[in-house]
Amino acid sequence: AVPLVVAINTSLAAQNGMLVRDRIAMEEARNVDTVVFDKTGTLTRGEQGVVGIAAVGGIDEDEALALTAAVEGDSEHMIARAVREAAEERGLAVPAVREFEAIKGRGVRATVDARRVLGPAGLSDGEASGDAERRSGAGRSVEGGGETVYVGGPNLLDQLDVEPAPELATFAAEAGADAQTVVYLVRGDEAVAAIALADVIREESRRAIQALHDMGVEVAMLTGDSEDVARAVAADLGIDTYFAEVLPEDKDEKIVELQERGRLVAMVGDGVNDAPALTRADIGIAIGSGTDVAVESADIVLVQNDPLDVVRLIELSRRSYRKMQ
Ligand code: ADP
Ligand code: MG
Repeated sequence: AVPLVVAINTSLAAQNGMLVRDRIAMEEARNVDTVVFDKTGTLTRGEQGVVGIAAVGGIDEDEALALTAAVEGDSEHMIARAVREAAEERGLAVPAVREFEAIKGRGVRATVDARRVLGPAGLSDGEASGDAERRSGAGRSVEGGGETVYVGGPNLLDQLDVEPAPELATFAAEAGADAQTVVYLVRGDEAVAAIALADVIREESRRAIQALHDMGVEVAMLTGDSEDVARAVAADLGIDTYFAEVLPEDKDEKIVELQERGRLVAMVGDGVNDAPALTRADIGIAIGSGTDVAVESADIVLVQNDPLDVVRLIELSRRSYRKMQ
């Protein structure tokens, strides 16, 4: 039989928008001393928008944005959506691409067929991008022609061993200090543009972190985004520890690192990338419109997209299970 206090507890939880998939985790929640939040989509709204473009290497801002939107054409990432929207708002002709590939936690890659330009009126022959390609001349040619172009963040630059030109580095540093995510457009061996995207920090995040601190719980943040952005968001929200530029397959290792320091860790996230960390944490919490994978990896699902529910969850666990001892 289910002990009465547990039954009451899970129904109370349900009334508060918390789906308890593992009762033991709900009981353990009272002992959590460290909460790790995913950044994008959890602490922030995850509704990015393009706020700035810097272009070098012979293309202008519009050409850079159009080419970036082309490479992002098949990506479901929020960054991709924001870039495509910005290109559309400017009424740019977006070139057609082939051989699209997502590079997990780093960015995307595609082959751009310079001759075919997908404009507002559909497919047509375009000279503009053909000229751009001839000028750059550095494209890695592939079978059937075209140029391989990459879009991604610092993790992509690392992998490609590309160092941004000083002008782009300065742009990125300034954007990062404002907590803006920066992605680079890479042609040949060169970053030719950088695009800055702004997200909105949830007001509930600030209050949640304050409340957790008041309860004696430490707060950490885990993100695939840049060191600059992580530092800025952590400082803004008063977060104690952060892990930046973490590849999806390495996120769970950061949880282990904290556990090895003797921490009892709750992880809060929404994405496919967060699933291994949710599984690894002592308590995995999927939040809001979390992906199915995140939900399946979690012990507790918070129905609303509200970081304050993490506070309510720990409070509920503390209140309910204190009576049991
Ligand atoms: P997060 O930890 O913020 O959920 P991801 O693991 O999805 O992030 O991505 C980490 C980083 O990889 C992003 O901040 C970005 O720099 C880069 N990235 C991933 N996907 C894309 C994409 N489609 N376009 C551009 N950059 C991307
Ligand atoms: Mg996320």
